[in-house]
Amino acid sequence: MKLYSVAIDGPSGAGKSTIARAAAKRFGFLYVDTGAIYRTVGLAAERAGVKKGDRDAVTALLPKLDISLGYGEDGVQRSFLNGEDVSEAIRTPEISSRASDVSAMPEVRACLLDMQRAMARKHSVIMDGRDIGSVVLPDADLKIFLTASAECRAERRRAELESRGISASFGWILSEMSRRDRQDSKRAAAPLTVAEGAVTVDTSSLSLDESIEAVCSLISEKLGVKPLEG
Ligand code: C5P
Repeated sequence: MKLYSVAIDGPSGAGKSTIARAAAKRFGFLYVDTGAIYRTVGLAAERAGVKKGDRDAVTALLPKLDISLGYGEDGVQRSFLNGEDVSEAIRTPEISSRASDVSAMPEVRACLLDMQRAMARKHSVIMDGRDIGSVVLPDADLKIFLTASAECRAERRRAELESRGISASFGWILSEMSRRDRQDSKRAAAPLTVAEGAVTVDTSSLSLDESIEAVCSLISEKLGVKPLEG
């Protein structure tokens, strides 16, 4: 059976995970949230008391980490660190910043690369991240660069945090998000970039449903696949 791969990259808060998850469900593909894997390494570094930027300490930590992804019957991805379900613990602003810090380290990226590619060898996937189309799956059947204005992305992130009971001001989120985007774009190792051949989708003026439709239309057209029934 032919396996398909769709790479979705873009800055934080562009709606990648929500849109990718919905599209994966529609076509019966596996949704792989690679940010969750970097966040899990960030959480491990935080718990181990490693100072931000301490590459040696993070490199020493890597062999001790057992990171895995699991999928419930609902298809929702769960992240495990040494057997513990850390899916919620990795979603705090502090761990967002930690993830960005460890993800700039080439040792961390090399360690996680095989894990990501192995999933695409076994399943049709929609994988989202920062370097999926450029590094992880350079031969993906479709590459999408999903973006939106910084203000739009910050407001969406604020609303998402609020819905989880985490309150943070729009201004703080905007500056923290811009800092993280700069760090992700300027790093030497696999920076956030528009991959060669990627189609850019700007969701600034689209509702969530319209964004999902735009991505699903691209998938149907490019891969020649139909949504699942029902
Ligand atoms: O997508 P998410 O915001 O969960 O990603 C958290 C962080 O992980 C990003 O800011 C980025 O630094 C890093 N990341 C990455 N490469 C990926 C996915 C995420 O460097 N493929």
